Amino acid sequence: MAVLSRCSRAATAATTRTQTATATFSCILRALSPSFCSSSALNSETDLSNKKPAVLGTLKREPTGRNVQWVFLGCPGVGKGTYASRLSNLLGVPHIATGDLVRDELASSGPLSSQLKEIVNQGKLVSDEIIIELLSKRLEAGEAKGESGFILDGFPRTIRQAEILEGVTDIELVVNLKLREEALLAKCLGRRICSECGGNYNVACIDIKAENGRPGMYMAPLPPPPQCATKLITRADDTEEVVKERLRIYHEMTQPVEEFYRSRGKLLEFDLPGGIPESWPKLLRALNLEYHEDKQSAAA
Ligand code: ADP
Repeated sequence: MAVLSRCSRAATAATTRTQTATATFSCILRALSPSFCSSSALNSETDLSNKKPAVLGTLKREPTGRNVQWVFLGCPGVGKGTYASRLSNLLGVPHIATGDLVRDELASSGPLSSQLKEIVNQGKLVSDEIIIELLSKRLEAGEAKGESGFILDGFPRTIRQAEILEGVTDIELVVNLKLREEALLAKCLGRRICSECGGNYNVACIDIKAENGRPGMYMAPLPPPPQCATKLITRADDTEEVVKERLRIYHEMTQPVEEFYRSRGKLLEFDLPGGIPESWPKLLRALNLEYHEDKQSAAA
């Protein structure tokens, strides 16, 4: 009986914490999202077709200063961070990766640190309440700096997270990055991070030969510049066993999120054709943003 009442007290406390975190999250997102509650073409009707999301039609005309509220989905190792961060530089909106928020919290030795370490190093998902709390803090800090819009990477990762997000803001576009399964593990195992500047590099050279009518695929390594080369570290969760578990969890918990957005006409499927040199221009074209690339190269 005592155990039961302790469990129920703990469950009530957890629910209250989730509600508080969700309420804060909701307030912050409303502040960051002037378009909230506006009638969005994407939101108006459920679109079960496989057409490109309607928002893409507006990107060419309003390339800057628009209220970008995008999400990047994709398996571990696909390159969400790489492409989300490039787009965030291009569009001038913050790139918010919940994996980075979790790692920052781990490194801070704060109250959640040891609890998170165990979960992350096993490749499991952190609870919705903790992730929403971390995201709320990040959004709050951004709001104080006058940030507007965002590119979310690694959130939402469960249907519940997607429902909470959908309830508080109007996500315009969800980019679902896809890469051949055999490249994902190699990319995670080859990932290296500069312990000083946080730069992401990769020592893996992926060379999949054409076979049974399937084309080959080549992805060159992404070597660090000389100043980072001696400071490289590997993420503790980038071991073969943990990556396989993260992939399993992605298929079980996050893949349904793809359908959640597909059924709302917000999902853009993007098959990465290879490394950054081939994929980046193709992604810009898929997003109707090639105009930005021209501007960038002209300015370079
Ligand atoms: P991945 O390379 O697997 O996409 P991330 O860097 O996005 O990894 O995230 C690292 C870890 O942080 C995840 O394995 C998980 O433990 C935790 N995490 C990040 N985002 C979320 C989320 N939205 N919900 C739950 N856990 C998360």
